[in-house]
Amino acid sequence: MICEISKKCGGCQFINQDYQKSLEYKNSYMKALFKDFHVAIHPIIGMHNPYGYRNKVIVAFNKNYEYGLYQEHSHHIVPYSYCLLHDELTDSIIHKIALLLKKYRVPIYDPRTCKGEIRHVLIRRSYTTKQYMIVLVSTKTMLKGSRNFSREIVKEFPQVKTIVLNTNTRDTVVVLGEKETVLYGKGFIIDYLCDLSFKISAKSFYQINHEQCEILYKKALSLLSIRKDDIIYDTYSGIGTIGMIAAKYAKRVYSIEKNKQAVKDAKINQAFNSLINVYLIQDDAGEYMIHQMKQNVSADIIIMDPPRSGSSLEFIQASCQLGPREILYISCNPETQIRDLKIFKNYGYYFKDIYSIDMFPFTNGIESITVLRKH
Ligand code: SAH
Repeated sequence: MICEISKKCGGCQFINQDYQKSLEYKNSYMKALFKDFHVAIHPIIGMHNPYGYRNKVIVAFNKNYEYGLYQEHSHHIVPYSYCLLHDELTDSIIHKIALLLKKYRVPIYDPRTCKGEIRHVLIRRSYTTKQYMIVLVSTKTMLKGSRNFSREIVKEFPQVKTIVLNTNTRDTVVVLGEKETVLYGKGFIIDYLCDLSFKISAKSFYQINHEQCEILYKKALSLLSIRKDDIIYDTYSGIGTIGMIAAKYAKRVYSIEKNKQAVKDAKINQAFNSLINVYLIQDDAGEYMIHQMKQNVSADIIIMDPPRSGSSLEFIQASCQLGPREILYISCNPETQIRDLKIFKNYGYYFKDIYSIDMFPFTNGIESITVLRKH
């Protein structure tokens, strides 16, 4: 399969290359990165079918109602008719939305003049239930003809379970605004992950590749030796997925996440799954761990899954002070992970193995996991 716009789009660095070769490249990258550590670097876990994996797709439109991604550092859209990382239905839905926007003459937003209405369209898909969500990002709080718009979409695509209008009036590259109006359905879709159910709303953080995410969580948790009496801290927890999956093996799980919306989603998901031993805390992970340290609290296991920028010195210092038996470090950026692992070493926490997972095939992303133990 060939992508015809890969050079212009720039989204996937490896798209027109052999998939196995890209995995080999990632393996050698990891080997080079960790060469001074003298640890076992396990081969990256790839996908059997590395296409069509994205559960979330965002596109913008130009004034001719063509859609695509913005070219890097520009207001120019690179139109596409299909994307190899999207499932076919996602692109068919976007195609229909473009036709309807044109039919109803909905003005497209122009970032150069800040005029117009529709800024982006976001599609979310539930991998297990095959439910779809459409989010129309507009400068307005209403969409003229939205009833007909929704009816026409749902008639052709009954898999679309909800349509949301998100209002973003600011002159910003951030896609979503604060305000949301549900045009159709409940405003969320349901997905299942490792036997738990999750409610996904327009703004929630959710893993983009479901299949690899399950493999990641299972692999990560299999590296830990969780005991029934354990107190686990799941930090940078997003909508609480990892902690909730671990909860049934432990006494209690504290999940710490900074993003308000994610914690809100997590609370709904906790209730949804009747998890009584999970405590969801909205806070900065570093500040929270410092607070726990000052209270002389101890932890048995700490799970951390920070953003690309990695963790902080304060977080690492405080976490080590809690004296966990094991620290599971999941990272979407091995370079910042290495920086942090060096700091852990100063506090007597060491790792012996590095595992990696190809979460985003054909892009240069690598998800890497390791467990630290006290020497
Ligand atoms: N563990 C989750 C999410 C990982 S993504 C999962 O597997 O889905 C990283 C998360 O860290 C994001 O949800 C982000 O909002 C959160 N985050 C970023 N900086 C943070 C900080 N300083 N304190 C707490 N959470 C933070």
